[in-house]
Amino acid sequence: MTQVDVIVIGAGAAGLMCAAQAGYRGRSVTVLDMGKKPGRKILISGGGRCNFTNENACPDNYLCGNPHFVKSCLSRYTQHDFIELVDRHGLAYHHKTLGQLFCDNSAQDIVDILLTECEWAGVNVALRNEVLSVEKTDTGYLVSTEQQSYSCESLVVAAGGLTMPKLGATPIGYKIAEQFGLKVLPTMAALVPFTLHQHDKDRFEGLSGISVPCIVSSEDCTSFKENILFTHRGLSGPAILQISSFWRAGQAVTINLLPELDLTAQLATWRETQAQKSLKNSLATILPKRFVEILHESKAIPDCNVNQLTHSQIDELANYIHNWQIKPNGTEGYRTAEVTLGGVDTDELSSKTFEAKKAQGLYFIGEVTDVTGWLGGYNFQYAWSCGFAAGQYC
Ligand code: FAD
Repeated sequence: MTQVDVIVIGAGAAGLMCAAQAGYRGRSVTVLDMGKKPGRKILISGGGRCNFTNENACPDNYLCGNPHFVKSCLSRYTQHDFIELVDRHGLAYHHKTLGQLFCDNSAQDIVDILLTECEWAGVNVALRNEVLSVEKTDTGYLVSTEQQSYSCESLVVAAGGLTMPKLGATPIGYKIAEQFGLKVLPTMAALVPFTLHQHDKDRFEGLSGISVPCIVSSEDCTSFKENILFTHRGLSGPAILQISSFWRAGQAVTINLLPELDLTAQLATWRETQAQKSLKNSLATILPKRFVEILHESKAIPDCNVNQLTHSQIDELANYIHNWQIKPNGTEGYRTAEVTLGGVDTDELSSKTFEAKKAQGLYFIGEVTDVTGWLGGYNFQYAWSCGFAAGQYC
């Protein structure tokens, strides 16, 4: 049996950050991961370029049963602290829209930075080591993997959520929480594309690949202004991924297809300037042509010239386009989701140390906790911030 001060389960973003911090405090730390590579989710993130933080990250960008929970860690280790870290390592990166920062070269650069930090801090990263069970001992915890057992004073669970089972997602983090009497809130795939009911799927199949700038709103009145993307399975794109975290089964989403334009005013202008032009052809100048054809076929767009529209038809059409409603059939689920909503109830954890209130020396950080960021680098920022926080105490 190997004896160490700290065992971290999971060599992902949160686990590696925490391990390095604990190592710098002089703790002997071993990180256990079942994968053959560390940071596998980092490597595939952001299309291989890892959107590693967001310049505007703040508590409002997170969903959590307790909205105040993330305040402490986000303020003690901010996006600027992480930017300072990557600058120190000479990372080449660039700004995209909405405050998102991406690597210029590859997400591997972020993994390399974390591994370098772990190396400098004397952390041992043990790969191909699946944790099978955990037990409480008099002095801490006993962690058993396929290969061997480890005894530790502090156990940090950074085993992630259920997304992307192909990349080694397991429910072990939730199981350990339940084993020690901690409440785990129901989980759900989030930041995930929608699938459509068969009739909508058939109608919109030909639009696959078309992207439209929109404002998408959920029934709880949350909205995001970004693009939607028609896919062969349904709807995706940043606005859809964002709203998926706020959508619940059976609900509709409302999509303003022309967020930058007042369609009522536009139709009034067209009545003056192109009265004889067909409504369908006029709309095809401001919306994707194929989409307009589909709406025309389903009679949502009247078959007439612009000047033949009655006032009530104008109001109806403007309302339809600005508040297009679609009821998803479901989501693509954990297979393609970026994150898991729900998880270890944050009321069970100290927001300062991430230690379980009911189990001394047991910590939960990262996606396994009930904290889910918006799309845009917020999830990694939470991983860095909570990993840093727990690393000061474990
Ligand atoms: P993880 O990264 O999931 O790490 C958990 C680790 O635990 C894994 O390595 C796993 O192998 C290990 N593990 C699990 N069970 C066991 C076990 N029994 N024994 C041993 N090891 C175990 N977020 C952003 O902010 N920006 C992005 O650009 C971005 N892009 C994304 C793209 C995709 C396709 C996906 C899926 C997610 C993306 N995310 C992004 C979300 C981000 O990847 C996660 O929020 C983040 O990785 C969570 O980190 P974590 O350390 O908590 O968990």
